[in-house]
Amino acid sequence: MSMLRYPTVTATDAARRALSELARTAGPLVVVQSAGCCDGSAPMVLPASEFPLGAGDIEVGEVAGVPVYVSIRELRAWEHGDIDLDVETGYADGFSLTPADGLHFVSRLRGCAIAHHASPRRTTMKTAVVTSFDAPLEIQERPIPEPGPGQVLIHMETCGLCHTDIHAAHGDWPVKPTPPFVPGHEGVGTVTKLGPGVSNRSVGDRGAIPWLGHACGHCDHCVSGWETLCEEQQNSGYSVDGAFAEYAVADATYVVQVPDAVTSFDAAPLSCAGVTTYKAIKVAEISPSEKVVIFGIGGLGHLAVQYARLVGAEVIAVDVTEEKLELAKELGADHVINAVTSDPVQVITDLGGADVAVALAVSPKAFQQAFASLRRGGRLVCVALPPEHEGTMLLPIFDTVIKGIKVIGSIVGTREDLAEVFRLHALGRTRVIAEPRKLEDVNDAIDDVLHARTSARLVFQF
Ligand code: NAD
Ligand code: ZN
Ligand code: ZN
Repeated sequence: MSMLRYPTVTATDAARRALSELARTAGPLVVVQSAGCCDGSAPMVLPASEFPLGAGDIEVGEVAGVPVYVSIRELRAWEHGDIDLDVETGYADGFSLTPADGLHFVSRLRGCAIAHHASPRRTTMKTAVVTSFDAPLEIQERPIPEPGPGQVLIHMETCGLCHTDIHAAHGDWPVKPTPPFVPGHEGVGTVTKLGPGVSNRSVGDRGAIPWLGHACGHCDHCVSGWETLCEEQQNSGYSVDGAFAEYAVADATYVVQVPDAVTSFDAAPLSCAGVTTYKAIKVAEISPSEKVVIFGIGGLGHLAVQYARLVGAEVIAVDVTEEKLELAKELGADHVINAVTSDPVQVITDLGGADVAVALAVSPKAFQQAFASLRRGGRLVCVALPPEHEGTMLLPIFDTVIKGIKVIGSIVGTREDLAEVFRLHALGRTRVIAEPRKLEDVNDAIDDVLHARTSARLVFQF
């Protein structure tokens, strides 16, 4: 929290007058900003003797002789601007003192560089919507959703563009989402509202909305640490609206806290590309010095190279563009292979064969090559999800049996896996290579990913 900037506090003349008058009748007062956040939220104005200030309440200033506290959880929400205390008409709810009948105190946000803070009480938000599988996404203004029971409302700061969002928008897979829907499952932002019954999250928390938007919590998969296999799961940006939007509601229990040391920009790609490849490396049970080949150095692959390095593997990177291979080298790959200009199976066989091959390229051919590059005892980890019409992998039974090959499907990772991914990043063990984009440019962004014209990941900034 020491990294947070504290807001400065000012007040309008009307607010100063109202505070002074109240203090004359009610005695010494305090102003406490402890719930709600940003522009237009109501601070509590209370007799100093009645408010049990705790260690989490930080004094940030003084208005008309009255100290102003912001609860530590709220500071993040205010860190981009300053508080200007005001009064406005309308009754306050809660137990705050009111300056006069029909008036209440309100905190305005001043000097905020972020445009979306500047307009109070917005009711609509910008979203990117898939309206049909063969049309570009549409930028639509939609009502800001209300968090239902157990949900939180998240004000998005960033959201990565995963290749899965493109499959979703095109209806590529056997199980299809239902248009219209909002994709996006690498969303990171601040909790601005709690739905009924939420006690495990607070306003001001920064959280990630990952692919696993909800699981039942009590089936055998859920209770054995495999919530990613839950049959009841909901997927963000697929079966429920996702994070290509300025706001999104999400199941509070499946939102993963982002540590202070991880920026929202980096946290976005880590929330799917990171956790997915971290898990893929985990399930491959790699011993140090084993050879691991990563097919596809895109959003997922550039992180896979780094996790393979972290478990001590000798890393081979395969891609079809030189830029991605350069990047793989920079991130620590020991060997790189261009699958267009050389035969990866031959090169890997010449290196002694791979113990583990991780298939991240959206190409059935890459899966075949990944399998064929394995040595005895090898593990093929299948992660990419090519479209339905090319989604079958033919494996030779003889080689699979004789070589004792394991074929492993791996789908994202659990909340705990993501927490570990964030911890590793906070420790400086991984680097996220990404470019910022605007949500309005979503269709160009998709085009750029499909033509491999991007750095490893594109991240929408709101
Ligand atoms: P991406 O487009 O960012 O990366 C794909 C990379 O593969 C690119 O660098 C491309 O140049 C490279 N490539 C293409 N053809 C190749 C070939 N024949 N050989 C080697 N490399 C090749 O995509 P991404 O966001 O990293 O996602 C990859 C796939 O993983 C997608 O199908 C996505 O849906 C899937 N995915 C699966 C999970 C999961 O949990 N299993 C999670 C996230 C994404
Ligand atoms: Zn994804
Ligand atoms: Zn379950």
